[in-house]
Amino acid sequence: MKWEDNVRKVVPYVAGEQPNKENMIKLNTNECPYPPAPGVVEAASKMDCDELRLYPNSEVAPLVQALAEYYHVKPSQVFVGVGSDDVLAMAFLTFFNGKEPILFPDVTYSFYDVWADLYRIPYKTCALDENWHINPEDYKQPNGGVIFPNPNAPTGLLENLSVVEEIIQANRDVVVIVDEAYIDFGGESALPLLEKYDNLLIVQTFSKSRAMAGLRIGFCIGNEKLIQYLNDAKFSFNSYTMNLPSQLLGVEAVKDDAYFKDITAKIQKTRERVKKELAELGFTFPDSKANFIFVSHKSVPAKEIYQALREQDIYVRFWDKERINNCLRITIGTDEQMDCLIDFLKKYLQKV
Ligand code: PMP
Repeated sequence: MKWEDNVRKVVPYVAGEQPNKENMIKLNTNECPYPPAPGVVEAASKMDCDELRLYPNSEVAPLVQALAEYYHVKPSQVFVGVGSDDVLAMAFLTFFNGKEPILFPDVTYSFYDVWADLYRIPYKTCALDENWHINPEDYKQPNGGVIFPNPNAPTGLLENLSVVEEIIQANRDVVVIVDEAYIDFGGESALPLLEKYDNLLIVQTFSKSRAMAGLRIGFCIGNEKLIQYLNDAKFSFNSYTMNLPSQLLGVEAVKDDAYFKDITAKIQKTRERVKKELAELGFTFPDSKANFIFVSHKSVPAKEIYQALREQDIYVRFWDKERINNCLRITIGTDEQMDCLIDFLKKYLQKV
């Protein structure tokens, strides 16, 4: 059909599956196993539905204000979106318009190349080293922008702030985006670097450490000028992106710092003991600082373990992709969920 010549054709991102089975153990999309903060639950139950007649605040002002106070920056340095995917998509559109390719790691969040293709942004991937680390030297070549997650996904590996700074320092003429979706599980945020670098944009999310993936809240913090440009693009696209319930409940989540610290500490504690148990079962993995572990087994192929787990309604993530097709990404769930996983693996690995 002739009209197809004018279609913007894209190969979409494939998100982890969302099965809905009773008694399943869902460790495949890095969600938080604990409920949102009590204040969020209470506010949700008291929500005034009459307000839903009205458009929500297009600037998401109360949530921007709450985040600015929490992170000790000005509201004009904060941009909020519908999940960090929305923030990242806007940032690609706004900042990556050069002729040179943008750079990101070869093993990383698999949405980056999808947005690059969607917007026709040229890109080049830089191979992680044999220990899955980013080599900052790779980011010292001509480019139209840089993006990487820290900790990286799906490896879970955190780069030192000195490495992050080295990359920003070497790229003062383009925007450098640090995707900190998993920073709250033991990483050191690049936020203090904002004072020195006007080309740095830090993206975070409520989906993992704040237990609110279902509400779709993400945000970024950067120099006021970067945020202004992002807002210009957003208001040229869709003014009312974030719905009212997400705005209200997002503010409640930010208010409860004690709960946030409690659940992120619990997840880290579980992660550390699960690392020991997985190592005893013959798994190897980079030393994750995220809410997941990226494992390979010394003798059993990842795909077989993935399928065996699935038959037990234990869902983990597997990609049939070069370089990572012998790895599984296992989200850290509750202690009970992780006990079930380990118990099953013990029995299964004895049999194979
Ligand atoms: N960045 C990374 C590295 C991720 O793994 C994810 C989760 N898929 C996101 C961003 C997006 O998360 P959300 O849109 O739920 O904020």
